[in-house]
Amino acid sequence: MSGADNNDAPTNVMPARYDIGPGMNKFVGEGGRLINAKGERFMEKYNPTLKERAGLRFLAFAFCLEAQQGNAPLFMDMTHLTPEQIRRLKDVLPLAMKMFESVGLVANERFTQPVEWMPMATLGRPGLVVNRRFEATLQGLFACGEACSPQAVPTGLASAATSGATAGKSAAEFACSGASPSLDEEQVKQLREEAYKPLQRSYGIEPDQILLAIQEAVIPYNVLLLRHGERMRRALQAVEDIRDNQLPMLRAYDPHYLRIAHEVRNLALVAELHLRMALARTESRVLLREDFPYEDNENWLKWVVARQDNGRVKLITRDVPLQSYPYQVERTKNLNHMWQLAQKLGIVNVEKGEIQWA
Ligand SMILES: Cc1cc2nc3c(=O)[nH]c(=O)nc-3n(C[C@H](O)[C@H](O)[C@H](O)COP(=O)(O)OP(=O)(O)OC[C@H]3O[C@@H](n4cnc5c(N)ncnc54)[C@H](O)[C@@H]3O)c2cc1C
Repeated sequence: MSGADNNDAPTNVMPARYDIGPGMNKFVGEGGRLINAKGERFMEKYNPTLKERAGLRFLAFAFCLEAQQGNAPLFMDMTHLTPEQIRRLKDVLPLAMKMFESVGLVANERFTQPVEWMPMATLGRPGLVVNRRFEATLQGLFACGEACSPQAVPTGLASAATSGATAGKSAAEFACSGASPSLDEEQVKQLREEAYKPLQRSYGIEPDQILLAIQEAVIPYNVLLLRHGERMRRALQAVEDIRDNQLPMLRAYDPHYLRIAHEVRNLALVAELHLRMALARTESRVLLREDFPYEDNENWLKWVVARQDNGRVKLITRDVPLQSYPYQVERTKNLNHMWQLAQKLGIVNVEKGEIQWA
């Protein structure tokens, strides 16, 4: 996590950083403790009851608060885990544990030192809008699992498997229906030429370089997790610059690089969509904005949907169909409960409708 520099960080910590992804719950389940650069177990302050078990979204916010207070970098301390627990972790998270062993963070069935961690964005995943047959608006296109928007498919193996089973059946029915989509040969030719262009360039920009530029624009915690319109607009400008000036120069040495070049192109599009949608949502709900700290159930019980319009992104909103929900939500506008906590702890104040850091 790229928080404020802090010279009090534990000295012998490896530079490796790890995302707090879904795998984190296994470490927390075994008793891993989150500590800040001063060695404080900071979750005791934010959630004295649940501490590290407070949930990913809560942890991500706590990480942001610690970083804003100059307490980064932040660490997962597992040095107290017993050899038996380490063996269990090796069973359930073999790859992560091998990685830790390869850099000396695990030796002789013990963690040798705290490991630096960073949070990942929670529940901000964009994806295709699909109907209950997992059919997209483009005829003949079906999606399942994490390729769908979270409204259709939440994360997790169970949802991936069940949506996959239904999407597969729907796709097979479509294939058997004889409704073959019509092909525009000219468009196919153009798309093919466009797809192979990076292979034909004798000079240009490598995909790795563009990937790094995208990451530098969108990954900082105060863009991805802790949001402000100004910072997001700057990030969007950087992504638009990549889109307009770097992507047209993508160069691939061979088909392997061509695949990476296309992934980078897709990542740039997802980064743009993500930022545009986040900017459009002028409230704090799942993710928190400093310039719009209220959870706004008067105006924002809506989904933001992106469409392609003449090659550019167009956003629309759709009301959440609350009338079909068994529980009704009050149409009120309140300071988001996470900001309320930060206010109670004296970390922030709200002035003129915006967050001010105390
Ligand atoms: C560390 C970690 C721990 C997790 N723990 C749990 C857990 O304990 N319980 C749980 O329920 N969920 C867990 N999850 C979430 C779960 O893994 C995902 O929700 C699930 O795997 C999503 O399935 P999917 O099929 O949608 O996508 P994926 O599993 O990501 O499958 C997509 C596949 O498509 C391939 N692919 C991508 N691009 C292309 C291309 N252009 N051409 C061909 N192939 C391509 C990829 O290589 C990949 O194999 C965890 C996730 C992570 C990262």
